[in-house]
Amino acid sequence: MKKIMSIVAGFAFAFLATVAIRLWPELTRPKHVDPAFRLPSPLELALFPTAARFDFPLGSENGAMTYNAQPFTKNHHLGDDLNGIGGEDSDLGDPIYAIADGRVLLARDGGPGWGNVVIVLHAYIENGERKYVQSYYGHVEAMLVHAGEDVRRGQQIAEVGTGGGHYFAHLHFEMREFITPFIGPGYRADTRGWLDPTAFIKAHRGAPEDDVGRARMR
Ligand SMILES: [Zn+2]
Repeated sequence: MKKIMSIVAGFAFAFLATVAIRLWPELTRPKHVDPAFRLPSPLELALFPTAARFDFPLGSENGAMTYNAQPFTKNHHLGDDLNGIGGEDSDLGDPIYAIADGRVLLARDGGPGWGNVVIVLHAYIENGERKYVQSYYGHVEAMLVHAGEDVRRGQQIAEVGTGGGHYFAHLHFEMREFITPFIGPGYRADTRGWLDPTAFIKAHRGAPEDDVGRARMR
């Protein structure tokens, strides 16, 4: 009997540990939540505009005139560090564009090491299924949007910054599968919940004839 109890306890512990690991981004979320922030309700999510295609956030729509100084997973990086090809601070103040139609979840100071952070949530259709993906723009200088605002693909939402003087100007850009506006650690060995931003955008560029985005905004 004792043996059975310890096996049951072992299973219970393993189950709880698995749940804890899956919820880790939620559990480690800062306790301070922007009062302006509210998670979209299922009804609101259903009414989100559907993003037809995704562009790169810096340089041209397909990322020309930029380079990736630290790609996703390198040194446990949870995003891409995108820079203008001039290097150092030559891209300070350059426009950062929304990668697709969506709604701003968060636009505020992300705390030490981050500077200003903008998070946009996008709805899109894949294999007939409606899905959600988050784009995350870190270390930005000026923020040109507010939480709750709808944005269009190619709309300028921020300027490239230095994270409050911590780095040479660059855009820390993440893409995530969860919908909560979690600021995050920037680096983590466990990348579950995070996507390879470059791979995702390349796979969701859409048909060329549908490309009426950033050119329209100019
Ligand atoms: Zn980074």
